[in-house]
Amino acid sequence: MTVAQPTFVPLLNGDCQIDAQVSLSEYTTYRVGGPAQWFIAPHSLEHLQAAVAWAYQEGFPLTVLGAGSNLLISDRGLPGLVIVTRHLRDQSFDEASGQITVAAGKPVPRLCGQLAKQGWAGFEWAVGVPGTVGGAVVMNAGAHGGDISDSFVSTKVLQPDGNIQTFYKDDLNYGYRSSSLQGTQLVVLQATFALQPGQPIAAIQALTDSHLNHRLETQPYDMPSCGSVFRNPLPQKSGQLIEQSGLKGFQIGGAQVSEKHANFIVNRGGATASDIYNLIFHVQKTIAERWGVTLHPEVKILGDFENAA
Ligand SMILES: Cc1cc2nc3c(=O)[nH]c(=O)nc-3n(C[C@H](O)[C@H](O)[C@H](O)COP(=O)(O)OP(=O)(O)OC[C@H]3O[C@@H](n4cnc5c(N)ncnc54)[C@H](O)[C@@H]3O)c2cc1C
Repeated sequence: MTVAQPTFVPLLNGDCQIDAQVSLSEYTTYRVGGPAQWFIAPHSLEHLQAAVAWAYQEGFPLTVLGAGSNLLISDRGLPGLVIVTRHLRDQSFDEASGQITVAAGKPVPRLCGQLAKQGWAGFEWAVGVPGTVGGAVVMNAGAHGGDISDSFVSTKVLQPDGNIQTFYKDDLNYGYRSSSLQGTQLVVLQATFALQPGQPIAAIQALTDSHLNHRLETQPYDMPSCGSVFRNPLPQKSGQLIEQSGLKGFQIGGAQVSEKHANFIVNRGGATASDIYNLIFHVQKTIAERWGVTLHPEVKILGDFENAA
């Protein structure tokens, strides 16, 4: 006799629940990815803590998703507990210190819009980064000459054992699209940034708009993607190497090297994670053979891609 697997696990006397086998494709900007073994998108810190405690007790690995805008998740899905932070959006602005403290799930473009309206400068560069604050802190997201580390003050993180710890800038070893938070089981709860309040609103809005317009002109925002696929092998640019190798428009299944920006791979409709993975591999191989340069993915590749076909 087989024992049916539960489809959900109630937590906190049924106040919230963890669901089984939830497709992750709607939680990534690529619109691909198989099911999470267990899944929760908590609406409060209490729910998040209960879920992490449950996973710890069960011995399950944790994966945290913000907006899923820098992720390629296997068609086979992910084991353990997947936590999506999108509902955790509290924020507070402190005019006196010029600091804002923002919960992990707050969308960065929305935060940029609010800051511009209130005359806070320092985050204009981030308007086109379609992730959450938590993801941006982990990735050290950056654009237009700025990045998270410029204004980052501190972050509160939840450890798998339930302890909450504060990390300051020097603790995170920030570099180009990297931080020591990557590849850990820590959950970023919130972050504090030092900005410049009381600045001319029109000037902030003009800069924000010009960054956004530049992106809409040069990047394929109309198709699912993860933004830049490869880190730039500085001083060279991945996009230029890929374009000069004639790969713009090259397609595997539903995945295509964007016609608009060669460092983007877009889902033209119906792509699988394996299509995207195989295209990443093809681009890497072509660039290595043609230019002797190794391209390293900026996108985080999660799950099992062995024998991706
Ligand atoms: C159209 C487009 C344009 C883009 N342009 C840029 C750009 O200009 N500059 C740039 O830097 N990036 C860019 N990106 C990539 C992406 O938006 C950034 O990397 C972003 O910071 C990822 O945030 P996220 O919330 O989506 O994180 P996810 O993609 O959900 O996760 C990224 C990593 O962070 C971890 N993570 C997320 N949240 C938490 C948390 N709360 N606690 C612990 N770990 C967490 C994940 O486990 C994963 O390892 C672009 C993406 C797209 C689709």
